[in-house]
Amino acid sequence: MAGNLSFDELKSAAKSGDIDTVLVCCVDMQGRLMGKRFHVQNFIDSSHEETHCCNYMLATDLEMATPDGYATTSWRAGYGDYVMKPDLTTMRRVPWLEATAMVLCDLLDHKTHKPVPQSPREMLKIQIARLKELGYEAMMATELEFFLFEQSYRELAQSGYRELTPISAYNEDYHILQTTKEEAIMRPVRNHLFAAGIPVENSKGEAEAGQEELNIRYAEALDCADHHTIAKHAVKEITWAHGRSATFLPKWHPNKVGSSSHVHMSLWQGKTPAFRDENGEYGMSELMRHFMAGLIEYASDYTWFLAPYVNSYKRFMKGTFAPTRTVWSVDNRTAGFRLCGEGSKAVRVECRIGGSDMNPYLAQAALLAAGIKGIEDKLELAPPTGGDVYENTEARHIPSTLRASTETLRNSKMLREAMGDAVVDHYVRCAEWEQEEFDKAVTDWEIARGFERV
Ligand code: ADP
Repeated sequence: MAGNLSFDELKSAAKSGDIDTVLVCCVDMQGRLMGKRFHVQNFIDSSHEETHCCNYMLATDLEMATPDGYATTSWRAGYGDYVMKPDLTTMRRVPWLEATAMVLCDLLDHKTHKPVPQSPREMLKIQIARLKELGYEAMMATELEFFLFEQSYRELAQSGYRELTPISAYNEDYHILQTTKEEAIMRPVRNHLFAAGIPVENSKGEAEAGQEELNIRYAEALDCADHHTIAKHAVKEITWAHGRSATFLPKWHPNKVGSSSHVHMSLWQGKTPAFRDENGEYGMSELMRHFMAGLIEYASDYTWFLAPYVNSYKRFMKGTFAPTRTVWSVDNRTAGFRLCGEGSKAVRVECRIGGSDMNPYLAQAALLAAGIKGIEDKLELAPPTGGDVYENTEARHIPSTLRASTETLRNSKMLREAMGDAVVDHYVRCAEWEQEEFDKAVTDWEIARGFERV
């Protein structure tokens, strides 16, 4: 069981007054938890079967605006409903909120009760099923990096986000002294998540003032995405409860390192690591070589799923540990893909392209689709790259803007085959809208640069 609370345990907890509220959540395109707060009795009596939400749930932007251009829903179609179907295996306690439990839902068509293909959870399930057909399961881990600030969300919003003071004054990479000062937030983050059935490994200071990393033990791909989404949500809620703020923006300051979400991947057959071959180069199996070749070949196709906003592309800068080129290396942090656990049972590939703003369901679905294509076509893996990959001018670049990654997504034959045209077109529209909104903005930079001088 992925969660840690069975339906029977929920009933007992309701009877004893231990739990009075159930958060019934789905995941939107941006990777956020959206849904309703149910009285536990109503959830037990009926809503555990299903509830409903407006079908704009998968067609809004971060501001909940309702752009046109989606085939799934529109003003013209009257914005009908989706069914939210609780996946009771994901039910868990939410220890950082009083007397509260949570369940994740799948989104189903209101009339047919078939899964909505554009739903991030469904998109990942489809790639997991394709992998299963080939005889493998994916184990994944997604690292969470973020910044903590001294001020609350409200204070920062009221200052127009001009007075952002990171919670520490200096680079706190691996710093025990500085992170001790942040334990008021990070200790409850680790312990509450662990008590919610999320296998937290550790947190650590990261390579910038106020930057944190949270690591969760690798798990089956769907569980991994669920863990990531709940953990990100918990970090925000726990930080908010302490009168502070956290951001998962990949780049909040031009001169400071960005935040990423690296994705670790390995394929397994039951308990046997299918990426391992004792006699293979670096202990890698043929299967792993094909999977990695697929990841590298199609990196531009799926970059948007790892970097979905204008801001995401501000992170890809030379000398910042954020990769810009589609090559692999052996334990070298300047390449887009890094071989980890070389020669061991934990041999795996880490994709370093993803930003802290990625939706983990979409990211993992896209990465698996590319890896599967590599396996199906038996793609050959080029030799690893060494040295400073930023200086390697022969290696291919990933798209460097949202505009460019929207086009590589639109033109991806691989993703259209793996996910279907309706799904790719849906997310292309999402990407276009974000760019359209940005194009309308007049930024501080333009004003400061040109006000007097033009
Ligand atoms: P790093 O050097 O990147 O900090 P870690 O040893 O902390 O490496 O591992 C990073 C992540 O990789 C952890 O979340 C861990 O659970 C995950 N991981 C370990 N083994 C595997 C595996 N076989 N497949 C996928 N992920 C794994």
